[in-house]
Amino acid sequence: MMVPFLSLRWGMKQEDVERMKEVIVALLAQLNHHAEFLDLETQAIAPSCSLGRITRMEAISEQAISTHAQSLNQKRIIGLENALQRIEKGTYGTCIRCQGEIPLGRLELVPEALLCVQCADKKHR
Ligand SMILES: [Zn+2]
Repeated sequence: MMVPFLSLRWGMKQEDVERMKEVIVALLAQLNHHAEFLDLETQAIAPSCSLGRITRMEAISEQAISTHAQSLNQKRIIGLENALQRIEKGTYGTCIRCQGEIPLGRLELVPEALLCVQCADKKHR
């Protein structure tokens, strides 16, 4: 479904929306690819100890790091999928807290941003 230009509350330019959509789709492809790689990294470490004790501990700590990276990666994927839905609904670029405009410059840096700069600032204080 195409979102008509005028349905966008802040009149974000259709070409900008299209461009952001492309950015998000490309990012998602990248993150999904990364997720596959992390999946391999986080697979259970074989208990068969051809690995020495130290090596095994190193492997476990590396696995923990990968698990953390994987959960961050997963969060980002969810955020970006959410952003795509917001593009479809025509609410993309609108702050979910104050309904204000999220500047394009911010969206270019953080395509999945849900808050405008002011609201994001308050959140972190
Ligand atoms: Zn706001």
